[in-house]
Amino acid sequence: MAAKDPKILIIGCGISGISAALRLFKAGFRHVRILEATENTGGRIKTAKLGNTITEIGATYIHGPSEENPLFCLARDYGLLDPQALTPENQTMDVYEYPPWVGNWFSSSGQKLSAESMDPALEMFLELMYDTNPSEIDKECASVGHFIRSQAQLRTAEKWKDKDETTRQLLLCALSTMLKFECCASATPSMDEIDLAGFSVYKDLKGVDCTFPSGYESLIQNLMSELPADLVTYNCPVRCVHWNGKESGENTVTVECADGKRIAADHVIVTVPLGYLKKHHSTLFCPPLPAHKLHSIQKIGFGTTDKIYVEFESPWWDADCEVIYLVWKDEEDISDRVSDISKSWIRKISVFTVIKPSESHILCGWISGHEAEYMERLPEHEVRRSITEFVHTFTGNSAITPKRILCSRWFSDPWTCGSYCHLAIGCSAQDLENMMEPLPAKGDKSQPLQVLFAGEATHPCYYSSVHGALLTGWREADRLITHYSSVSPCGDSNQKL
Ligand SMILES: Cc1cc2nc3c(=O)[nH]c(=O)nc-3n(C[C@H](O)[C@H](O)[C@H](O)COP(=O)(O)OP(=O)(O)OC[C@H]3O[C@@H](n4cnc5c(N)ncnc54)[C@H](O)[C@@H]3O)c2cc1C
Repeated sequence: MAAKDPKILIIGCGISGISAALRLFKAGFRHVRILEATENTGGRIKTAKLGNTITEIGATYIHGPSEENPLFCLARDYGLLDPQALTPENQTMDVYEYPPWVGNWFSSSGQKLSAESMDPALEMFLELMYDTNPSEIDKECASVGHFIRSQAQLRTAEKWKDKDETTRQLLLCALSTMLKFECCASATPSMDEIDLAGFSVYKDLKGVDCTFPSGYESLIQNLMSELPADLVTYNCPVRCVHWNGKESGENTVTVECADGKRIAADHVIVTVPLGYLKKHHSTLFCPPLPAHKLHSIQKIGFGTTDKIYVEFESPWWDADCEVIYLVWKDEEDISDRVSDISKSWIRKISVFTVIKPSESHILCGWISGHEAEYMERLPEHEVRRSITEFVHTFTGNSAITPKRILCSRWFSDPWTCGSYCHLAIGCSAQDLENMMEPLPAKGDKSQPLQVLFAGEATHPCYYSSVHGALLTGWREADRLITHYSSVSPCGDSNQKL
């Protein structure tokens, strides 16, 4: 048995690290410390401003804001949500019953299309997405992309048979628009890389997605205010977790920081993003991770979704518009890939969402995959030039000029290396189980629970989300609380690691 008042180190000060620390602290554990690589709290929760308007560089929505969602409950209890998000109607709505966004449609020949004329494409896409559930799936299809494409061809041949060829072609192109937008939800280069059976491992909660009027970081600030100010060490990247060792006397784990400092602990909770783990696992753990865990780290996908905020002098969309769909008229093959990324990366932006409420006129362009990664390497003036040309193509109005732009760059972030995880082809729920398994593995007789794993990519059904990450922090804190439940952990509350 480890010490009664264990020393617990948490690596990473994102929502999972913060929630683990808070849970442990509230349970009476006093030797808890977070080591964070950057100078910031929040990790992938990052609020910024474009002019006076709040923009979210990382997470935007509470997905499924309802009683079942602990993130919603926290935000509600801190008083951070709009009255609309708190209404019972909002909380009981199923994902597939969401009131559709008010959309404006533009085609690559510079025309505004009537929203009604594009409804069949929206309906078809929604139907196809709904049918990706396990009872409906075609066992021949390995990927969501393959399923959507093959089923769309079959179903549109029947359903759209009375439409003239030009309309049918345009609706098929609109399916490409939506498929590209779907890539952003999964942070994937293509829906051809998403496992069809694995797709339904993610569980939707009831509730119409809502945002934080004062920014997502307001949640982080509230959580942090409940922790002692000196609990986090910033600018402290961890280089290696030495586990199963005898280096530090009674403690079995030693954390080696980038500046060479070594800190002994009884337990370490690792919350670094999967993208970081993929790149650095071989140097981050000594001895190396067990093969099955490593295999899952390699198999689970971790891709990029970025946002490009663009501010205009005046809106070129309708006053009630919530989303702008951009349809390329040569994409009837229902494709979500761009053929020449260096020339045409911008084609991957298929949708702008309208930032509301806002006095200024700001759109958020969504881009995923290798095209997003390419965009991140471009200088800002080049992104701005491409966006300007892009808007001219779709509006047919070459007088429209963006005032300011602001881009996220998650792939280039050395502590994240992408945006969030997805179940790539061949992945199953077992891979997520492997991710969350502590070290040493079951059956090993060494000191238990030396290294624990939290973070969005370790949640069995809410991976990729903030509420999933939050729950994993609580889960790993509870694992330790249960472990010590027969021993009062409250020691000298002034003692620090
Ligand atoms: C563009 C984008 C949009 C998103 N939209 C949504 C959304 O609308 N709704 C939603 O629910 N989710 C969304 N997400 C996902 C959500 O943001 C994440 O799932 C969640 O914030 C992850 O929290 P975490 O604690 O697991 O990881 P993180 O927040 O990434 O925290 C990990 C921390 O570890 C630190 N770290 C890394 N390496 C080291 C090291 N060696 N030493 C010390 N510290 C280290 C990092 O700096 C970071 O602070 C989005 C993410 C992105 C990128």
